Amino acid sequence: MKLVFATHNAGKLREVKELIGHKYEVIGLSELDDIDDIPENELTLQGNALVKARNVWNKYGLACFSDDTGLEIDALNGAPGVFSARYAGFTKDSEQNMAKVLYELEKKEDRSAQFRTAVALIIDGKEYLFEGIVRGKIAREKTGKQGFGYDPIFIPEGHKESFAEMGNAKKNSLSHRGRAIRKLIEFLV
Ligand code: IMP
Repeated sequence: MKLVFATHNAGKLREVKELIGHKYEVIGLSELDDIDDIPENELTLQGNALVKARNVWNKYGLACFSDDTGLEIDALNGAPGVFSARYAGFTKDSEQNMAKVLYELEKKEDRSAQFRTAVALIIDGKEYLFEGIVRGKIAREKTGKQGFGYDPIFIPEGHKESFAEMGNAKKNSLSHRGRAIRKLIEFLV
């Protein structure tokens, strides 16, 4: 069965394809030659995920899922949260976003945080929601070159390395997106 993953992000598509395996043929928006950037203007992760999935369903009538992720930092009252991509501005630059987080936490003792992913699935016009969370802490400096986004400054609970120091397989086994996608897979099979 063909499943559209409503993303242009090659890194995320690679991670999710590894998780879903061969049971479903997962294709990204680039493979549909869809170049539209779907606005993410909702105030919740679930809202944004649903908007992206509905866009594909309405346009192509294909089974589709999408995700929206936020980094929620306890000492910043859950910020950047739903604004994680554009925390340091509309250029959505990961380096600038990480620099802003490190700056905001400079004088804070509590560095605990979590990544939260909402996944929305639409099959035959019916909508379903799934969620995955990973707790951890924000490092004092960036480490590692793998992954994307805030990975170099996020150390998952029970580990010493950042997400950017782990391979995809290890990150997937622990991550927010991995957890949400595994719930999606359990539902699909
Ligand atoms: P999105 O909802 O997946 O587009 O993600 C929103 C923001 O969170 C973007 O700045 C991403 O780079 C960041 N982000 C999403 N997933 C991850 C992840 O697995 N690791 C690090 N940053 C992430």
